Amino acid sequence: MATSLPSRRFRYMTARCPQGCGWWSIPAAVRSHLRGSRCTGVPWTQAHPLTVLVAGDQHAALLTALPSSVKRRPVFGDRVVEPLLRDPLLPSRAFGGVVVVSPVPGVGGRLWLETVAAAVRRFGVGVIDRALTTGGFAVVAELAGPLAGFVTCEVCGDLLTESGVTGHRARSTRCRWLVAHRTVEDAWAGGWRDPGSLADVPTRWDELSRGRWRRFVRLVEYPQWTAVLVDPAQRLRPEGPVLVSPGERRR
Ligand SMILES: [Zn+2]
Ligand SMILES: [Zn+2]
Repeated sequence: MATSLPSRRFRYMTARCPQGCGWWSIPAAVRSHLRGSRCTGVPWTQAHPLTVLVAGDQHAALLTALPSSVKRRPVFGDRVVEPLLRDPLLPSRAFGGVVVVSPVPGVGGRLWLETVAAAVRRFGVGVIDRALTTGGFAVVAELAGPLAGFVTCEVCGDLLTESGVTGHRARSTRCRWLVAHRTVEDAWAGGWRDPGSLADVPTRWDELSRGRWRRFVRLVEYPQWTAVLVDPAQRLRPEGPVLVSPGERRR
């Protein structure tokens, strides 16, 4: 993820979608998000389950054997990636890949896939059907045994190769989003609010950061923007970094 975007992009106040999807953006964008049918009200953590993109040259035989219900074509933004489409912005190994979606709620795509792969190596492709249900997957996981060479990220639950752990927290947009998402949801549950939803609280950063509310403000950094939270009960913000403009902390 680029972190060198011009900081002026972030010098605005953010607002939280009031319908529970977990989306924050500038107030005008949230208003347009609420018009029409863009907000489903489903938390994004559920709407976008943890999937895995399997490169075209990995698990080739297994991918062929998997039912189509767990396979998706790779989509980047709104585009389906075609195997022959050359795009300098996408890694070449993404071409011809398959996105695997776990059929088991709460089990990420990579964990499901690697578990099934390990079981298939020992018992053949007959175990695949069994792994499609929650109870059946538990049995297949027993058959597969511990997944050597993998560790689980304690933040996002993704299964990582031991060599992939380094840098995952910094590189994985989903993982970084989850850290910020949980922080703001916890703060929200504790009474912190976006300035726009409170009466008498400035919604411009220069006013908020200079006025009497400045001691009751906290910032939570998402990969692409900063959530600004105010405590209407005027408890002091938690100990943390020096309060600066949402944009200034960007490198
Ligand atoms: Zn929403
Ligand atoms: Zn993670």
